[in-house]
Amino acid sequence: MSLLLSTHIKYLKGIGPVKARTLSEDLKISSVGDLLAHYPYKHTDRTRVWSVCDLSEGASHLQLRGRIVDVRLEGEGMHSRLTATFSDGTGFLSLIWFRSVKTMQKRLEKAGNAEWFVFGRPSLFNGRFSIAHPELEPANSKELSAGSLDPQYHTTERMKRFGLTSRALGGFIRHALSLVEDSELPETLPPTVMSDYGLMPFCRALRTVHFPDSPANLSAAMHRMKFEELFFLQLHILLMMQRNRTAVAGHVFARVGPLFHQFYSSCLPFSLTEAQKRVMKEIRADLGSGRQMNRLLQGDVGSGKTIVALLCALLALDNGFQACIMAPTEILASQHHRGLSELCAALPVRVELLTGHVKGVRRREILAGLADGSVSILVGTHALIEDEVRFQRLGLAIIDEQHRFGVKQRSQLWKKSDLPPHVLVMTATPIPRTLAMTVYGDLDVSVIDSLPPGRTPVKTLHFGESHIGRVYDGIRRQLAEGRQVYVVYPLVEESSKLDLADACRGFEELCDIFSSHRVGLVHGRMTPEQKDVTMQAFTRGEIHILVSTTVIEVGVNVPNASVMVIRHAERFGLAQLHQLRGRVGRGAAASFCLLVTPDRLSGDSERRIQVITSTTDGFVVAEEDLRLRGPGDMEGTAQSGLPFRLKAASLASDGVLLEQARRAAASVVAADPDHTLPAFAPTWRHLRELESETADYSSIS
Ligand code: ADP
Ligand code: MG
Repeated sequence: MSLLLSTHIKYLKGIGPVKARTLSEDLKISSVGDLLAHYPYKHTDRTRVWSVCDLSEGASHLQLRGRIVDVRLEGEGMHSRLTATFSDGTGFLSLIWFRSVKTMQKRLEKAGNAEWFVFGRPSLFNGRFSIAHPELEPANSKELSAGSLDPQYHTTERMKRFGLTSRALGGFIRHALSLVEDSELPETLPPTVMSDYGLMPFCRALRTVHFPDSPANLSAAMHRMKFEELFFLQLHILLMMQRNRTAVAGHVFARVGPLFHQFYSSCLPFSLTEAQKRVMKEIRADLGSGRQMNRLLQGDVGSGKTIVALLCALLALDNGFQACIMAPTEILASQHHRGLSELCAALPVRVELLTGHVKGVRRREILAGLADGSVSILVGTHALIEDEVRFQRLGLAIIDEQHRFGVKQRSQLWKKSDLPPHVLVMTATPIPRTLAMTVYGDLDVSVIDSLPPGRTPVKTLHFGESHIGRVYDGIRRQLAEGRQVYVVYPLVEESSKLDLADACRGFEELCDIFSSHRVGLVHGRMTPEQKDVTMQAFTRGEIHILVSTTVIEVGVNVPNASVMVIRHAERFGLAQLHQLRGRVGRGAAASFCLLVTPDRLSGDSERRIQVITSTTDGFVVAEEDLRLRGPGDMEGTAQSGLPFRLKAASLASDGVLLEQARRAAASVVAADPDHTLPAFAPTWRHLRELESETADYSSIS
C-alpha cells in the first residue's frame, strides 16, 4: 500500500489525536486509506434550488435560497426550541431546532441579514412548511456545495460532538484525495474483468464515489465499488470450495442396487416431479465422484424433500453403508420415522428411531444394531450426535431443517466413521440465491423449485381482530366438511407467561365456541411426551382444532388440515409466516391461511402482511424478507458469516451483480489456477490483504 494511504489519520491536516481516536473507535478508521474507504451512504442533490411556493407535501430533501427574517426562542432549558422564519421572496417557511439551540441562535443572530442555502426535508404542519434541523450554508461561502452532488457520511453522536460531522468528514476526504496520486490507487481487478464488465477504473471510481461530477458517473462508480466487493467475496469463497473439494475424499456409491430399484418400481406412491428427478441426478453425481458431498437441498414446504432423502438413503444401503436422518424436534423425528417405516415396509430395511427419550433395553438394542450393521437407517434428534452412538459404516448423514443445527453439530457427525459421510442438508426456509451463494458458499445447492402436481395454492386472508367472527365462520365451514384446523399463537420466548396465557385463553374460547368438536392444546412448556400425545391425536384426526404456540412450525404433515389461523400475525417474521402456512394445502382441497392482527398496524407489519397475502412463492417471500430485514437478520443466517464487510454492496439488493461477480471470479480462477500470471498478480495480492484483515473463516460448514 502507498505511503500516504497507510499514514495514520492523526497526521492529516485538521484531525489530530483526539478526533483520530474518535474516528478509530467509532468507525474503525485509522489510516488515510481507511478514511477514503468510508464511502458516503448517499448524495444529496444540490444542483437545483427550489422556491417555497413550489413545495408540495411529501417532498424529499431539497435546497432553498433566501434570508432569515425572524428568530424566536421558546421554552426553557431541555425543552427550549428555536424557530426561525425563512423567506425566499416566494413564501415563508419555519426552520426549527430542538438541539444545539443556543449555538444556532448565536449563529443566526451574528449573520444578520445574510443570504443562506437551506437544506432539508420540509413537512407540512398547520398549513405551513417547516424543516427540522436543516443544514445551513452561507450563500457566499467559498467551499460551496450548492450546485453539486453533496456526499453524506455516516457519523455517530459522539463524532458530532467532536466536530466530526458529515460535512467535516467530506472536507478531510477531499483534502486526502487532493494529496494522493493516481499511481497510489492501483487497479485491483484484472484487465479481463475490467473490460468484460465495462467497469470504471479504481482510482477514478474512488474519487467519483465521494465527489461525483454527474449522477451517471456516480452510479457507474458505485457499480464498480459494489462489483469489486462482491468479486473478492466470491473469489475467496471459490478458492475455499476448491480447497475443501480436493482435501476431503468421500465414499463412492458406485451402484444403484436392488433396494433402490425395488422401491422405485413397486413402493414409490407417486411419480417424481421433474424437479425431484433433477435433484436426484445432481446428488447421484456427487455420491459417485469420490469426493465427500456437502449439499444443501432447498425446497419450499411441501415440495417433497423427504422422498429424495429416502432415495439417497437407499443408495447408501445398496452400497453397503448405513444412513441417518437428523431432525430438529422429537415430533419431527418420530414423524419421519413413522413415514419412512411405512414407505420401506416391503423392503428388508430396518429403520429405527433414537431420541433422548429412548432408554434402557430399547436403546441398547438400537445401539447394538447400529454397531453390527443390522440397523440400516437411523432417524433421530440431537441424540444422534452423542458419543455412544456408533455406526458400523455410516455413509450418508441427512439433516432436515438445517437452520436449527449449528456448525459444530454437523461436524460432529463426521467423526462417526474414518471417511466422513456424505452430508445432505435439507431446508424448507428458502434462502435467496444471493445468500446461498455467499453464506453457504461452501455447500453445493440443489433446489426443488416446483410443488408436486394437484396442489391448490393456499388462500391467504387478513382480518383485523374486530372481525374475528368471520374467522370463526370460516373455521366452522371447514370443520363441517370434515377438515382440521390449526390455530397458532406467537411465543417469543419459552418463558413468556403472557403469550402462554394468550394461547390458553384462545384454547378455552375455542372449546366454548366449537363445543361439538375436540380442541387440543400444545405449547412449549409441555414435556415432549405430552406434546406428542396431542400431536398424534391430531394426526389421526381425533382432534379437530389444534391450538398451539409455534412448536408446529416445522415439518408436521397432516394433509387433512385445511385452515391455518395465525393470531398476532404481526409478531411473526415473513419466513415464519410462510413456514406456518406451509402446514396446510398439502392435499388437493382448497386451504386457507387466516392472519389475525390488531385492526391498526405499523408500516413494517403491514408490509409483511401485504407480502404474505400476495404470494405463495417461498423464494419471493424470502427475497422480500431479506429486503425488509437486511441479511444480518435472516433467520438462521448472519451477515457475520460473511468473510469481508460489505461497504458499498448489499446482498439484499445486489443479487444480479453478485451473480456477475461470481462468474467473473470463476473466470479468473480458471484463467490463472496457479496464481502465477502477472496480469492477475495485483488481484491475488489484494485478496490476500483482505483475507489477512479478517479472522479465520475457513470452515462454515
Ligand atoms: P417437505 O419438502 O416439506 O419435507 P414432504 O416430503 O413432507 O415435503 O412432502 C409433502 C407431501 O407431498 C407428502 O405428503 C409427500 O408424500 C407428497 N409428495 C412428495 N413428492 C410427491 C410427488 N412427486 N407427487 C405427489 N406427491 C408427492
Ligand atoms: Mg420435511
